[in-house]
Amino acid sequence: VDANIQHDMEKLQSAFPGFRNMYRLIKRIGEGTFSTVYKAEDLVYDQYDNSWDMEKENEKWTAPLKSFNSQSSTTIDDTSQTQTGQTQPRRRRPKYVAIKKIYVTSSPTRILNELELLHVLRNCPSVCPLITAFRQTDQVIAILPYFRHADFREYFRKMTVPDMAIYLRCLFTALSSVHSHNILHRDIKPTNFLYDPVTRRGVLVDFGLAEREGGDRTPCACHEDPLVRKTRLRAAHNASSAPNNGYPKGDTRPSRRANRAGTRGFRAPEVLFKCTEQTTKIDIWSVGVILLTILSRRFPFFNSADDVEALIEIATIFGQRRMRAAGVLHGCMLETTIPTIGMQGFNLERIILWSTCRSDTGETLSDDEKKAVEFLNRCLDLDPSKRISAEEALEHDFLKMGMD
Ligand code: ADP
Ligand code: MG
Repeated sequence: VDANIQHDMEKLQSAFPGFRNMYRLIKRIGEGTFSTVYKAEDLVYDQYDNSWDMEKENEKWTAPLKSFNSQSSTTIDDTSQTQTGQTQPRRRRPKYVAIKKIYVTSSPTRILNELELLHVLRNCPSVCPLITAFRQTDQVIAILPYFRHADFREYFRKMTVPDMAIYLRCLFTALSSVHSHNILHRDIKPTNFLYDPVTRRGVLVDFGLAEREGGDRTPCACHEDPLVRKTRLRAAHNASSAPNNGYPKGDTRPSRRANRAGTRGFRAPEVLFKCTEQTTKIDIWSVGVILLTILSRRFPFFNSADDVEALIEIATIFGQRRMRAAGVLHGCMLETTIPTIGMQGFNLERIILWSTCRSDTGETLSDDEKKAVEFLNRCLDLDPSKRISAEEALEHDFLKMGMD
């Protein structure tokens, strides 16, 4: 173990009185913008039996996959023999835990928000539950069951289409219950969905940016009646001289503020257009970006430095016409003279053939891939109100693939 990591581990163990009697830190497993995560052994895990309903946990963890084989569990199984020689039902105990040390620079409201939402979502299938949390002065640590997973970059190129369907079914299972609580995750991306390609199970983690739907009360044009919106926007457009010659000088329009939290490359168009009434559909877009990444075998697929670049990347694929219509939904006018952004854009099938170097060979997508692309189009609908919901996604034929 690296000396710095060792030092940080020592510090963490000393910061909380009694830590060493409860947990044995094993290694650092993650370092993000907002936290450092360690793998640890829970030394007193037997005592959790009351607060931690194992039977329920088992159901929950195995729910998304019928074919899940309980032998290949990621945590320690404990099959105890009774006096009569009967085998007790397997009880999976979170013997190994992930300890998430939230940086002290995070605001207390932010930390509270994350813990609160995790508590609300504690019974959601495929969502990593919170076991407990501790605070010592300004330091907060969250304790989660440890979930073995592989690095996305190591397996995404090897995934078959049925593999993709299984991966997504698990992710959508988590999202459908998160969304049914009217909570947006806001940061859907591979590092926040811990997936084990061997057991084919995954859990959603990291609710650090999650929020309740409807938190922002500023109205956005996308929630207006389409007819009203059209008339109002046309009037506004005619009133101001069309900004054809670049950015308007002496712009008197109020600046727009919207939640833009998330990770670049995964932000939905409405986030980039600063929609103030963002919905759970922003998470669906991000899942679409993951699927596009897997199908095109390119990670990261979008690689923008800022929101304007991100808009350009999306506009290059979808074309000016559709992108303009998407902006209008949120009261935005999109004007560009960038030659690579065509009017029509491309269809996703073409993009995938290009990215996988099949466009010159005259090859086409396989039937399975076509099904995946059809589903992908539903996730990457520029209009959030038309984009598929997590619940609908679970009913989609594509996600039923590989289920039997
Ligand atoms: P951050 O807010 O810093 O991104 P995350 O909650 O996403 O924090 O955790 C960062 C990383 O730590 C994850 O990408 C993952 O590799 C690892 N990790 C987090 N929770 C767990 C867990 N329950 N089991 C195993 N690894 C985890
Ligand atoms: Mg994260």
